[in-house]
Amino acid sequence: MPPFMSNALQTEPGKRRVFAIISHPDAGKTTLTENMLLASGAIHAAGQVAARGEARRTQSDWMKIEQERGISVSSSVMTFEHADLIFNLLDTPGHEDFSEDTYRTLTAADCAVMVLDVAKGIEPQTLKLFEVCRLRDIPIITFINKLDREGHDPFELISEIQDKLALDVIPMQWPAASGRRFKGISDLRTGQFLRFVKPDDDGEHSLTPVDGTDIVDHFDDDDLLEEFLEEQELAKEYGEFNAQSFREGHMTPVYFGSALRKFGVRELIDALAEFAPPPQAEKAVKAGQDVEILPTSKDVAGFVFKVQANMDLNHRDRVAFLRLCSGEFKRGMKLKTAENKTISVHNPILFFAQDRELAENAYAGDVIGIPNHGALRVGDSLSETGKIKFAGIPNFAPEILRRARLADPLKAKHLRKALESLAEEGVTQLFKPSLGADMIVGAVGSLQIDVMRERIKTEYGLEVTFESPLYQTARWVTSDNPEILKAFVDKNTANMGEDIDGAPVFLAKSAWDVGYAQDKNPDIRFMTTKERR
Ligand code: GDP
Repeated sequence: MPPFMSNALQTEPGKRRVFAIISHPDAGKTTLTENMLLASGAIHAAGQVAARGEARRTQSDWMKIEQERGISVSSSVMTFEHADLIFNLLDTPGHEDFSEDTYRTLTAADCAVMVLDVAKGIEPQTLKLFEVCRLRDIPIITFINKLDREGHDPFELISEIQDKLALDVIPMQWPAASGRRFKGISDLRTGQFLRFVKPDDDGEHSLTPVDGTDIVDHFDDDDLLEEFLEEQELAKEYGEFNAQSFREGHMTPVYFGSALRKFGVRELIDALAEFAPPPQAEKAVKAGQDVEILPTSKDVAGFVFKVQANMDLNHRDRVAFLRLCSGEFKRGMKLKTAENKTISVHNPILFFAQDRELAENAYAGDVIGIPNHGALRVGDSLSETGKIKFAGIPNFAPEILRRARLADPLKAKHLRKALESLAEEGVTQLFKPSLGADMIVGAVGSLQIDVMRERIKTEYGLEVTFESPLYQTARWVTSDNPEILKAFVDKNTANMGEDIDGAPVFLAKSAWDVGYAQDKNPDIRFMTTKERR
């Protein structure tokens, strides 16, 4: 290997920061995303994130649902640079029905920004997404948004985060009032005050640094000044930020601002640059041994956390999003799945704010899109040797089961293909009962079923309805003893089915039936999740 290559391997992963934004719908994720891209110079005019969305929507009609319901169904990757670092922002769908998809995306992120609406605090979806982050102890930076409006007292918000999320909370800044009385934000570490400057002729607001000792000049209201100085002293008593505690997911630093009015956004990006961890060692299994794959390891390796089909309807393509974990990837490389399937990666895509580009090389912390025709699935590990299998991305047992029914029964084969393809993409799950020819579709939320119906119509030209099947619940069944498992499967044919990977699934009429079966079959495990990787 020429020396310059190993140098790149030593330094490039350290420059990457992979993060996601988690928030309850309407807290300001889209606005914040856009203004982060603007502040970093990745895009040049507001509205471009949305505009890009529009362009995609014309390509695929199913996004109508996204528009109508004001939610973001598809996720993608946005890259921007700041402070000599490369940030990969993974967009997560916000709606609760998509928690499974979100979970997978979060497995590829090393850090998360949690956006709270100052007037609302922790909302139900914030909590759910936070719990997903906690499963992997992802470090979280909190951004309290919409400070241009009146909201809750910051002390109350901090207590709420402490109580509901069981996190240590350290304010890094302190706001001087909010809404119309807003005067600025002080940096609690440096003592510097960022004075809020009202819009100039261009309508731009800004935060201008002034020396902390001069702040008296910027308050026209003595009471407000006194209140602020007092609060600031109290805020310091939360203690010092501890980088290690943050990285272990126990402590969250808190920042304030307004995504819409564009203040506090640059400071948030600075915080990401300062605190978000670079790619870390990933747990994997290599030749039956537990190993840790370092970002600087030579063997190119990564895992697929998302598959998106039919991004371009004319090509019926699929793009697998591969999070690289090690090595120096080069365009044209042959990579192997842990099942020894070889994939030649001739046209890997790097995603930018607005554009896509062919990736000539990529490193740990990069996400590349691999166009393929269904060979790659969510959860697949890819590596040069084919010997690495990263620790699991689970499938979640569906909460909703539906029987797919076609208007035109002659098209059953087409439908099966469509359902299989959507299941491989991870939109929904597909179960085939052992008896009969039904196709049972499973989803975590009902919106997934709507999206699926719409996509089957626009992408496959099939009219399909979904009925309630006999079964309400699905559980993967496993046992340490293959013979016991086989006997169970044989004895319960009427309640058995297979998922898309051929794994046995117990289909029950109710949760009670599952409990009953569990009591009768103590050596069988009825699983609500299935590890895919
Ligand atoms: P998302 O659902 O979390 O992606 O939220 P959006 O970014 O779409 O924002 C939801 C609404 O809140 C939109 O009407 C935004 O214009 C508004 N919004 C976002 N950030 C701010 C802010 O800082 N201040 C105010 N006043 N409104 C905001």
